[in-house]
Order: sequence, then C-alpha cells, then structure tokens
Amino acid sequence: MKKPIFSIIALLFSFIGIGFLFLGNLESDEKSERPEFALAIHGGAGAMSRDLMTDELEVQYRSGLEAALQKGEEILKNGGSAMDAVEATIHILEDNPLFNAGKGAVFTHEETVELDASFMDGGTGNAGAVAGIKTIKHPISAARLVMDSSVHVMMAGEGADKFASSYGLEVVENTYFHTERRLKQVQEKKAGEEPKVLKKHGTVGCVALDKEGNLAAGTSTGGMTNKRYGRVGDAPIIGAGTYANNESCAVSCTGHGEYFIRNVVAYDVSALMQYGNKSLQEAGDHIIHEKLVKQNASGGLISLDKDGNIHMPFNSAGMFRGFIKSNGSSGIAIYDDEF
Ligand code: ASP
Repeated sequence: MKKPIFSIIALLFSFIGIGFLFLGNLESDEKSERPEFALAIHGGAGAMSRDLMTDELEVQYRSGLEAALQKGEEILKNGGSAMDAVEATIHILEDNPLFNAGKGAVFTHEETVELDASFMDGGTGNAGAVAGIKTIKHPISAARLVMDSSVHVMMAGEGADKFASSYGLEVVENTYFHTERRLKQVQEKKAGEEPKVLKKHGTVGCVALDKEGNLAAGTSTGGMTNKRYGRVGDAPIIGAGTYANNESCAVSCTGHGEYFIRNVVAYDVSALMQYGNKSLQEAGDHIIHEKLVKQNASGGLISLDKDGNIHMPFNSAGMFRGFIKSNGSSGIAIYDDEF
C-alpha cells in the first residue's frame, strides 16, 4: 500500500520540479530576449488607402521613416539615452515635409502653422510641452527645454516661442513650415470639399528604451487642418498624447485629439499595465480597438514596455510606423495588413 503512495508523491515532486524548471526557463528566456535597446516611431494614423498612395510617395514615406529609425538606432547603439534618441529621431521627422510636424505641418484656418509637442522622461517622470508655437524649427526640442530648463511643464503661444529662442533654439519664419500641399489641403477644407490628398492625421512620435533601462516618449504635430481659435490637441498634453514611466511603458499617440484627451489615452495604457496587470498589447488593444471604437474615435499609438516589447495598435486604415531593436529585428509599415 505504501509503495504506490510514495510513487505518487515522487511523481508529484518531479512534476513540480519540472514546472519550476520550465518557469525558470521562461523567465531567463524573457531576460535574454529583452533587447539592450529598442525604439519605435509613428508618422501619423489615418485613412491611408492604397488608392490614394502612389508608388513614388510610398517609397518617400518609407525612406523617411527609415532615416528616422537609423538616427535613433545610431544613438542607442552607442549608449546614448532614450531621451536623446527620441529628440533626434523626431528632428528627422519634423524636417521631413511629408509629415505633419515641423516643416510640412498642416495649416490653421488663418493659413498659418501652429505647432504642439511634448516630451517625457520615464526615469524621473519629468515632462515638458509647448502648444501653438510658430517660430521654433524643432518643437520637440522646445518641449524638452521646458522640461530641462524651467520649473513648468507646459508653455503656450508667443511666450513659449520666446522662451525657446532665449535658450538659443533655432528660430525660423513661420513660412519655413509652409508647403503647397498643405495649403491646398486647408483651402479645399475651407471650401467645404474633402481634401484630395492623403487624409491622414500625420503627427509624429517616438518611444525609446536605452541600455540603462530608461524609457522616454515624445510627440510633435501641427494638429488638425483648418483648426482655429487656438485649438490644441492631445499631442502636447502629458498623459493624453505622450507618457513614459520606467515602471511600465512609453507611449506616443496619433489620432482625433479631442478623444485622446478625454480618454487620457497614453496614461491609460500605462495605468492598465501598472494597476490592471495588463500586458502592453492587452492595454493598447483595449483602448484603441474597444474603448475608442465605441466612441467612433479614430487613431492609434506606438508603445514600448520596460522589457522592450513593442505594440503599435491603430483603428484607422493605416498608420506610418516603424521599429528597431538591438537584437536585429526591425520593420516599417503603413497599412493594416502589414505587421
Ligand atoms: N492628435 C493630433 C491632434 O489632434 C492629430 C494627429 O494625430 O494627427 O492634434
């Protein structure tokens, strides 16, 4: 009688042992899979149908995203900080007239350009933002400057332009940001027509994880075509368009800003992970594919967690996006049938 009991107990112990071994392996696998560094970018979400996209334009978008990724990779590979990678990567996108940030940003109703940006350090929780600036060439740097060199989190309008220029950030005429394509777009919109160019939101953003394990996030935009009365979207609002916390994740959003503000989207991803024990993917999918869809709100986000996982959900037809990791994996995509 005793023998079978001992055998059963022995068997149970060996199962438990195997279980621990397996868990141990999973954990160490996760650790070894955690990339030394990782970075993701977006160039806006929206209605990018293949019909509106020419082959030539598609190549230009993809190479614009590629150039931005390369910049970020170079910085992180050489041991640079997530914050430096985010800032420099966004500069490349702000300089590219294809994207709705910096040069090539959309026009306001008054046919000027007003730019919004925000920046957050996941290590300290420090953050900076600017709204409605008109003369600073790289709005993302103005946002970082507010974080680094003032006791405030957000500055708006002329004061923000003045603050940034007083610290030596490059100043340009507002016309530097203007492009024919965007002018046509706002004029068509004012005439009550749907613009015949790619109907996309177009904000740019970047999230990064550096070798030290620090996360950072940044977002930069011209906002929405034909905006007026000093309208400000989610992009410069910490917690709505941008959020980073080393305990959870870094997030940058793009989409219909009013909904992203009301739903505090970027922070919600982090909170669902921190307090709701959701994975990065579960958190982002819940917000983008359930919560926002119920409200008819279109857009998407890029997110990167402290273990180097990347998730880039969107509920629009497409989102310009890309990622790189130190383990060699990388990708660039536009439409929803890609990765
Ligand atoms: N979220 C931005 C805004 O509402 C627009 C965009 O993402 O394209 O200003």
